[in-house]
Amino acid sequence: MTKTQTDYLIVGQGLAGSTLAWALLQAGKSVLVMDKYEFQSSSKVAAGIYNPVTGRKFVKTWLADTIFPFLENHYQQLETSLQAHFFHPIHSYRPFPNANIQRYFAEPETHENFRYFGTVVSDLPMYKNVVANELGGIVTQHSGWVDLPVLLEAFQRYFQKNNLLLSDSFDWAACQLADNTYTTATQVINFEKVIFCEGFLAHQNPWFNWLPFSPVKGEVLTVRFDEPIALQHIINQGAFVVPLTHHTARLGATYSWHQLDWTPTPTAQEELIDKYKKLMKPSISVLNHLAGVRPATKDRRPFLGLHPTYGQVGIFNGLGSKGVSLAPYFAQHFVDFLVNQKELDPEVNINRFTSLYLGHEK
Ligand SMILES: Cc1cc2nc3c(=O)[nH]c(=O)nc-3n(C[C@H](O)[C@H](O)[C@H](O)COP(=O)(O)OP(=O)(O)OC[C@H]3O[C@@H](n4cnc5c(N)ncnc54)[C@H](O)[C@@H]3O)c2cc1C
Repeated sequence: MTKTQTDYLIVGQGLAGSTLAWALLQAGKSVLVMDKYEFQSSSKVAAGIYNPVTGRKFVKTWLADTIFPFLENHYQQLETSLQAHFFHPIHSYRPFPNANIQRYFAEPETHENFRYFGTVVSDLPMYKNVVANELGGIVTQHSGWVDLPVLLEAFQRYFQKNNLLLSDSFDWAACQLADNTYTTATQVINFEKVIFCEGFLAHQNPWFNWLPFSPVKGEVLTVRFDEPIALQHIINQGAFVVPLTHHTARLGATYSWHQLDWTPTPTAQEELIDKYKKLMKPSISVLNHLAGVRPATKDRRPFLGLHPTYGQVGIFNGLGSKGVSLAPYFAQHFVDFLVNQKELDPEVNINRFTSLYLGHEK
């Protein structure tokens, strides 16, 4: 048996685990990331969009002013460090769905509020035969998408090359909190803290299954345009269309709180194509169809923090449908708490649910 010492054992090499491990390494800590890739990963299905103006009401997303400048820097630097190309900044175009939203964006206060993020345009003539946009719309800057499978592979290569990857699935019986060890067939790992980043599967974790997750199934299509189109924006209204090449695009995504599995369904495909037809004019065919489950939470805020009883056990999860925007900022925020003893933002600290833990223990 070999003995290994690490500051942090990170369980899960999805977007959350990878980003947190990276932030800990930058802070000078040692990490060991554990994943056998035998479970489904939401990150491998996601379209990877980040967009500061979201929702049916076109609102600036939570903490947009803080997290968007942060994420752009983060992914740009990461491309250099990991020597891979996964960051695709591209403006978004959102046609106005109705006259109320159109009027709202005509008000000077709205312009002021959105100045950093968007420009109201009455029309984009280049999309005359492409997008249904009779009322004009808003072009959002500081948006784009991250190719998460490429990013995760680059992280995996980096962790492997530096002997920071343990190819295993976490087994609770092998973990002893009395002496902070995790024992495999060949080694005993001594850790200062173990941090769980299991995405949707956190509901199976006996230390954190009391947290109020509210997982949401989502489905996305890769589609082919019958005729090539030079889309210069992500088109987003009801559904999103992310241009991949002049011939192909990603079309998504659905939201369902039922049948939480990774199986693509004909109903979701129909729903997406219906929405596409309301938004876009060119005809398409479907090339690929994927489904996944977003690790969302009841109060729509991430879960960061340490277990109420076992201070050496932590969680970084609950990124919901906005992992790409939230992960970089909150991984750094968590590291500031873990390493530099800064306070966690009460909105994300899992201690907001301690009463659920106490109830669950009774
Ligand atoms: C259809 C769809 C579209 C989406 N679109 C977007 C989008 O456009 N923009 C956006 O920001 N977000 C999007 N998301 C959400 C995004 O995918 C998530 O926010 C994010 O990827 C969650 O990352 P995670 O690391 O928490 O979880 P995951 O990616 O699920 O990773 C969890 C990892 O933990 C591992 N694991 C679990 N249990 C164990 C164990 N016991 N031992 C070892 N390893 C374990 C798994 O193997 C996996 O690798 C979308 C999601 C879906 C489903």
